[in-house]
Amino acid sequence: MSLGLYVSVPFCRSKCTYCNFASGVFSAEQMGRYVERIAEDVRSLRGYAAEQGAGIPQIVDTIYLGGGTPSLLPAEELKKLFFTVRQEFKVLPKAEVTVECAPGTVTDPVIQALVTRGVNRVSLGVQSFVDKEAASVARLHTQEKTLDDIARLRKAGISNINVDLIAGLPHQTRASWEYSLDQAIATGVPHVSVYMLEVDEDSRLGRELIAGGTRYHAHFVPDDDLTAEFYETACDRLNAAGIEQYEISNFARAGFESKHNLKYWTRQPYLGFGVDAHSMLRAAQQSADVESVRLATTDSYDGFFVAADWKASMVSKEQALEESFFLGLRLNRGVDLARLREEFGSEIHKYDTTIAELEADGLLRQNGNNIRLTARGRLLSNDVFERFIVVDRYAKPTIPEAG
Ligand code: SF4
Repeated sequence: MSLGLYVSVPFCRSKCTYCNFASGVFSAEQMGRYVERIAEDVRSLRGYAAEQGAGIPQIVDTIYLGGGTPSLLPAEELKKLFFTVRQEFKVLPKAEVTVECAPGTVTDPVIQALVTRGVNRVSLGVQSFVDKEAASVARLHTQEKTLDDIARLRKAGISNINVDLIAGLPHQTRASWEYSLDQAIATGVPHVSVYMLEVDEDSRLGRELIAGGTRYHAHFVPDDDLTAEFYETACDRLNAAGIEQYEISNFARAGFESKHNLKYWTRQPYLGFGVDAHSMLRAAQQSADVESVRLATTDSYDGFFVAADWKASMVSKEQALEESFFLGLRLNRGVDLARLREEFGSEIHKYDTTIAELEADGLLRQNGNNIRLTARGRLLSNDVFERFIVVDRYAKPTIPEAG
């Protein structure tokens, strides 16, 4: 089994109004300190993980720099980061290496730095091809800039590109959403991610949506029904264009599914470095109480510098089975019950009633050993997943954002 590596880079040019991540605007010097701190963790996390009883695969086949905006890292810091990773891990020559970039930050020197470090996949946080919508949430790019970035990335040899879109942005209408989808399709990129705007009190727009106000354009945010309709339109249009849905929020042309993100949904091992990063590793000695080990770092930028502060938690077999259901059901291909039976034995039958009820509710479909969400189930996926959580003491794991 091979390993995925995730590095969290919490730097941004400006703060998007809908953002609820631990990210901010920092100086080049602070970025240098941060990379240095990550390098320490890259060198020592394996030792810590082993102390917690985790087995660590030697071979790395995916690397993902997410954020934040990793493309803001100076070329020198990017070089240090990749140098340390390659020094500590055996990275396959054909590894999928993704870097998230904000359109408008992908300058020629940045592209050069990415290519030189072996980056072969870029995820662009476009969110909307309509300039007014992007500007209303403090994104700094335009459609023209985005198209130019895509063209220059391709020219440099990086054609495995993802475009992120958000349904439910202020000022979005049916027509403007279809325009964004059509533009994404017209670029010819092989991967598109579609997220529905999250409303929570950790973002400025979210707070305004809850409390009322107009400063962040909350009064122009489409209602939930319309946003759900946008999501359904995205599924229809992208599927029709051959960019097929393979996960609740992710669509790809055949062969371009994100290998790294697939690890999260299929419970493959990964290590996460940096602020608010998570790791999941199989236990070296498995037992009913310890099937795998999760590690998490602090979500505080300042706290990250104080001391190595990983929190380890053990995942029992019972919890691992729950995860297999609610993570696997995120995928359109669904969950193979025969495979789960092989791994977890007759324990899986305690979900028979849940599966039957969800099927009767039209949220899930069973075909032999395969179960998968229906289109309606995908729209109400959080409600479905909760039905698979039966272990009281267990909180759902945080899965890194996929793009
Ligand atoms: S949404 Fe992404 S780019 Fe925008 S502030 Fe948050 S982390 Fe940065």
